[in-house]
Amino acid sequence: MFNDQETELIKKCLARLEKGFPLPEFKAEVNWTEIEKILSVVAEKMQDNFPYFHPLYAGQMLKPPHPVARIAYAMAMYINPNNHALDGSRASSPMEREAVVLLAEMFGWRDGHLGHLTGGGTMANLEALWVAGQSHPGRKIVASELSHYTHERITAVLGLPFEKIPCDHSGRMEMTALEEALKSGEVGTVVVTMGTTGTGSVDPLAEVLELKSNYSFRVHVDAAYGGYFVLAENLSSETAIHFAAVHNADSIVIDPHKHGLQPYGCGCVIFKDAEVGKFYKHDSPYTYFTSAELHLGEISLECSRAGAAAVALWATLQQFPLDKGGAMAQGMERCHEAGLLLYNKIISDDRFIPLFVPETDIVIWAPRAGSLKEISAKSKVLFHDCAQNDLHLALFNYPAHLLPDHWAAIRRDSEYVTCLRSCLMKWEHVDWVEEIWARTVTVFEK
Ligand SMILES: *Cc1c(COP(=O)(O)O)cnc(C)c1O
Repeated sequence: MFNDQETELIKKCLARLEKGFPLPEFKAEVNWTEIEKILSVVAEKMQDNFPYFHPLYAGQMLKPPHPVARIAYAMAMYINPNNHALDGSRASSPMEREAVVLLAEMFGWRDGHLGHLTGGGTMANLEALWVAGQSHPGRKIVASELSHYTHERITAVLGLPFEKIPCDHSGRMEMTALEEALKSGEVGTVVVTMGTTGTGSVDPLAEVLELKSNYSFRVHVDAAYGGYFVLAENLSSETAIHFAAVHNADSIVIDPHKHGLQPYGCGCVIFKDAEVGKFYKHDSPYTYFTSAELHLGEISLECSRAGAAAVALWATLQQFPLDKGGAMAQGMERCHEAGLLLYNKIISDDRFIPLFVPETDIVIWAPRAGSLKEISAKSKVLFHDCAQNDLHLALFNYPAHLLPDHWAAIRRDSEYVTCLRSCLMKWEHVDWVEEIWARTVTVFEK
């Protein structure tokens, strides 16, 4: 997890950074002995964590930041820039703009767009839906029943009507149900999830866009989780068609703090048409002085934001450009491959039953049993026993009405079934599926 090269590098970089400030020496009073005491307590407290950084952690959406991001972030913290206004972030605001341009280009947007980083996906979606509400006042926001739970909450905050669209048996938004909703004429925006948080399913974006020829609505793509899969060239041909259509959306959200190797506090919202900037207009009497250039705070709902997040993302994008075939693309391909490998292990052992072929890198499955209640109970036991053996999976409650046909013989004595869920987000996971499966089976047989 930790190595001396990293601390050596931070030291070197900080010395280099300091050379830019040839100022008279001043000493802030610091009690180093006391700090050391406190920090050793912190180190002990922090041991109470699952090993999120290790490939045997294959549960929730947690991926360690890359050292380049971690070091860049640490370095930036000594300056502690605030990317709200240029005065407080002379270096890091331009870095944020460059990073956002690179993310936009990954989705095929070359110019005319407007975007910025946010504290995370929820804030980014809030902005996208706020703009949706400004441009289509009072009209409904719809999202699939497996979309992120925050869409319903966000629309409540914004005072916009919200409706859930049913999913099909692969966890994707169901198109006839969407068209029914559109026929009412009340829908202003369709949220299309590219990689749902629960199952990694990809809504059929290309088909949603086709409906625009008959109905008028905005399309917001929530790719907080799945956005970087647009680079992967090994997705199923169907999934690939929908990722290839992302550039036709009106807005996109992606979380660099999920698949993009960033520490937490890094989401991003991008609008296809920079015109939406007009909605943000505000008059702050104390912020914007040093430059007539655009301050990021003028196109953002949040005020103070960590400039360090932009610095870390910018640095990461230098090492891992968002090109097809590049290291980041290959990393995403490895994640999908890991998902398929685990899926194949599950289907070749009839003591287990999968939900469906993973579209991205999230695998949902369970121990077989006669009824949903029994399956839920067995999943919970296996989850717990695996954790005792240093293998960390997650649990997921899947709605019974969405279960695919190969679950038909199982008695439906419950509205939900608790399954095991694995997010194989680490590039190394593909090399660890054998070990993950071997441990699972050993634990199961005990
Ligand atoms: C994670 C996620 C969100 C919420 O993002 P945060 O960064 O956790 O605030 C929204 N939508 C989807 C699809 C997500 O996976």
